[in-house]
Amino acid sequence: MCCHSNINYPDCKIGGKIIHKIFSEDLYLLNKFTTGDEVIITINTDRRNLLTQSHSATHVMYMAIDLLKSDIVTHILGCHIKPQGGRLDFLTDYRFSQEEIKIIEEKANSIILDNIPTPIEVDPKYPDVRYWICGDYKIPCGGTHTKNTGEIPLIKISRKSIGAGKERVLFQWK
Ligand SMILES: [Zn+2]
Repeated sequence: MCCHSNINYPDCKIGGKIIHKIFSEDLYLLNKFTTGDEVIITINTDRRNLLTQSHSATHVMYMAIDLLKSDIVTHILGCHIKPQGGRLDFLTDYRFSQEEIKIIEEKANSIILDNIPTPIEVDPKYPDVRYWICGDYKIPCGGTHTKNTGEIPLIKISRKSIGAGKERVLFQWK
């Protein structure tokens, strides 16, 4: 694995190796194997599928926010997803009104109902860089995604103040 520091993706690892880290709550596993042991990893497919939908829904919510207020999306502070929903945090003093949240929710659900194909493109120059495509949107992302927006459940969007200069937009399944 090598890291190219003189390109557009300074943190991108090239070489296709995937590193799995053990969460602190699973550290007890360390007693069961040591460095060099071969292990079998299984994926909880129910949870993975929900996270895939949740992750894709975050992209759709991002698109809906961008369509209403494009200056906000350039100030993303963070993103978090869970099986039941997700959120985007923005570095801004702006506070979305309830009317704006309703418009964002309607736009996001309209994108979902339009069942738009969301293919993944590989960067020809950097094979470990992936792009999520949806209509005119092309977002660099290596996460797991649905094949089209129609696989995402309809969402309910809300907002929350999380301190000075920060705004949170959240969604949960309807
Ligand atoms: Zn993604």
